[in-house]
Amino acid sequence: MNSKYSRQELFAPIGVEGQKRLREASVFVLGAGALGSSGAEMLVRAGIGRLTIVDRDIIEWTNLHRQQLYTEQDVVDQLPKAVAAEKRLRSINKDVQITGIVTDVTPENVLDLFAGHDLIVDATDNIETRLLANDAALTLGLPFFMGACVGSYGLTFPIGVQSGQPCLHCLLDTLPAQHMTCDTVGVISPVVVTTAARQIAGVLKYLTGTKIEPKLESVDVWTEERASIQVAGFKKSDCPSCSEHASYPFLTANLSIRSAVLCGRDTIQLTWPANRKVELSPFAESIRKSVSNLNHNPYLVACEYNGHRIVLFRDGRMLIHGTKNIVTAKKIAAELLG
Ligand SMILES: [Zn+2]
Repeated sequence: MNSKYSRQELFAPIGVEGQKRLREASVFVLGAGALGSSGAEMLVRAGIGRLTIVDRDIIEWTNLHRQQLYTEQDVVDQLPKAVAAEKRLRSINKDVQITGIVTDVTPENVLDLFAGHDLIVDATDNIETRLLANDAALTLGLPFFMGACVGSYGLTFPIGVQSGQPCLHCLLDTLPAQHMTCDTVGVISPVVVTTAARQIAGVLKYLTGTKIEPKLESVDVWTEERASIQVAGFKKSDCPSCSEHASYPFLTANLSIRSAVLCGRDTIQLTWPANRKVELSPFAESIRKSVSNLNHNPYLVACEYNGHRIVLFRDGRMLIHGTKNIVTAKKIAAELLG
């Protein structure tokens, strides 16, 4: 009884049989920020079979106090989170098949990304992506373990674990703290770990065959307030995402260049469609004389341009920091790309 998972197998509700089930499981972690770091590490140490972790961002100094998979060197190297996460997770448990993917999850790619997994762990930082994932998980019939935290407050809600339960779209009007972000009101690491722990306890219960109550649970680790809400009554019979005649509105694809204001971050993201991707090396060469602090690695090109920090990712996304104005961002992109 000294194997890697012996103390987990001694825990009666999991046991040797439950451990075998974990070994056969395939989990998708949506986001490699704070919740994604904590949740993915727990799953990998628990010995699940396969883990995919997806994130669109690079590691920054402001992430390190709560995103436990990353180091100061990762910031210096300007590594994408999904790349650094994959490397660190592999070093923790070589038995798990781990794939890190650097991309933005969009209506165009979400179904392909989710397919082949047993469930989705929500570790994204915005409601738009969460609603897209809710629609995609419902389309594929996959459970979606929602989790969110800001300040000292965390929220969890398992979706698709009981027939007839409400989905995230049903609860949209009743969810608290929707317009606060980690970039406007901050966040502390204890609430990240607490929220991730609740999510992953739910995942382990689901995968090992223990019944889960679809409750909306909240905790504030600073004020020590807690709530556990039975949400069955919130189910909407005409919900566009989970009713009998669902249209999955957040899955509607858009094939033009899309722009998004990254809430609370003073940043615009422009995304080129798959058939119009910008190649990194030619782009880096073409801007070399017009920009400063140019950094080019296999995953991205980063630079400073007219007081803005610009990052172009291999998957066709450009982040323009220092503006909330989409027109300004498109003008800058046009100036650099023609
Ligand atoms: Zn619904």
